[in-house]
Amino acid sequence: MSELVFFCGTMDCGKSTLALQIEHNRSARGLVGMIFTRNDRAGEGKLSSRLGLVTDAVEVEDGADLYAHLVDHLSQGRRADYVIADEAQFLDPGQIDQLARVVDDLDLDVYAFGITTDFRSKLFPGSQRLVELADRVEVLQVEALCWCGARATHNARTVGGVMVVEGAQVVVGDVTGSKDEIGYEVLCRRHHRRRMTAATARAAALAPDVLPVSSG
Ligand SMILES: [Zn+2]
Repeated sequence: MSELVFFCGTMDCGKSTLALQIEHNRSARGLVGMIFTRNDRAGEGKLSSRLGLVTDAVEVEDGADLYAHLVDHLSQGRRADYVIADEAQFLDPGQIDQLARVVDDLDLDVYAFGITTDFRSKLFPGSQRLVELADRVEVLQVEALCWCGARATHNARTVGGVMVVEGAQVVVGDVTGSKDEIGYEVLCRRHHRRRMTAATARAAALAPDVLPVSSG
């Protein structure tokens, strides 16, 4: 029986590394995967992990029909034995429904990988739909740690090193080195609520007479 599995967690929890591992294990057994991704850090049409591994993938465009893509692919006599969808939080809910249909109507396993919540600790629409539809949800427990050492469960966005809680849901981090550089950092819930990043905590430690603002 084929299934739709959602592997989820924070940033830095090893999702893409596991996606590449699944791809490697199945390739070694002679199976051929259809790999979808969107906004990967390595650029369009790539699935990469922070450990430096990378493979080619199909970049999912706005409005693309993933079920129709598979049907086209198979009807041309090409192979796809399973499907991997990385950065699945960036897919729209309709595309998640199409992945469920790939499982049910084409009888292929679909392994989706994604961040559960955004920098405001709200579910991404794609991740919400996966939680609703998946046969199985696996929370990855590769320990991403907050600067305090606690398990990191939340994603923070920083602008110029300061945590923000407003802005567009999807902004890919830049590495331009400008003072308004957008970055991401994983935090425990306590420090996400207090908006205390590693940089803020370091600054507070260096200036002990200035107490960090607590939002309670
Ligand atoms: Zn913490």
